[in-house]
Amino acid sequence: MAERVGFIGLGIMGRPMALNLLRAGWNLAVYARRPESMEPLAAAGAATCDSPADVARHADILFTMVADTADVEQVILGPGGVIEGASPGAVLVDMSTISPAVTRTIAARLRARGLAMLDAPVSGGEAGAIAGTLSIMVGGEAAVFERVRPLFAALGRNIVHVGGSGAGQVCKSCNQIVVGATIVGVAEAILLARASGVDPARVREALLGGFAASRILEVHGQRMIDSDFAPGFKARLHQKDMRIVGESALELGLALPSAATIAQYLNALVGQGLGEEDSAAIYKVLEAMSGSRSAHGGLVPAESPC
Ligand code: NAP
Repeated sequence: MAERVGFIGLGIMGRPMALNLLRAGWNLAVYARRPESMEPLAAAGAATCDSPADVARHADILFTMVADTADVEQVILGPGGVIEGASPGAVLVDMSTISPAVTRTIAARLRARGLAMLDAPVSGGEAGAIAGTLSIMVGGEAAVFERVRPLFAALGRNIVHVGGSGAGQVCKSCNQIVVGATIVGVAEAILLARASGVDPARVREALLGGFAASRILEVHGQRMIDSDFAPGFKARLHQKDMRIVGESALELGLALPSAATIAQYLNALVGQGLGEEDSAAIYKVLEAMSGSRSAHGGLVPAESPC
């Protein structure tokens, strides 16, 4: 394993992904904004660094897993960023979910310095990150993809080279439309079952055997039934993803009405101060739109305005 590997961003997703690279035997250097985030990695044998530039000095292949587009720009191109420490021939693999257009701009800046970039956002959530079973959607040059493929194998199962630079991020936008629309559909189904006095757990169980089955029904449906909205995938990050989808729709002149509706649910959720909860909490927005529940789960009729 000659390649030296770096990892920047050790949150819900980045920490288990970096641990999986270590477990697979890769020589790893890490950086996180809060030093305490690096402790589990240091305990497992990773070298810790003071800045993204410092990680880049110690790495041939470098992963970023931070939050939003501006964060990736800062970590790669900003002061103390990757671009200051990386040597020509190194590869930057951004696994955050960010703007496809900005991804292409960053890739061009890096190319001018002799550095390659892949965009490689993921789906599969925290559970997939821990289990090393993520779906990885890759944009960039095929030869660079092949170089990084052995590392992707430590992180995911379904690893698809989608196309050129930015194609991975476009694919992730497509993923988030389907995921968001399915969360809304599952939330409506569970609300209807509850309000009808029917056990939503039994409804979920029945639906999982038919055409309505999905991972969202399985995982997010269970969260809604248990009222367990610990993230998971934070609502503010899903809101950010739908902002990216909306930007693409605007740039391309596309009507994506479902995507716009999902964004409004997430705006309401974040507006209620629930941005740190899992995006399955969209259920709460629907519930609030429909009025409060009675003890047996049925709707309480609204008071007459007259
Ligand atoms: P998270 O738990 O909030 O972690 C993000 C990490 O990035 C944090 O540790 C944060 O540091 C760090 N970070 C953010 N901005 C930074 C900056 N400017 N400089 C240095 N570090 C910075 O989020 P996550 O759930 O791991 O998600 C990470 C990315 O994966 C996001 O783009 C998200 O959309 C995507 N994603 C998430 C999931 C999921 O289920 N969670 C699934 C697929 C994709 P601090 O801790 O100091 O704030």
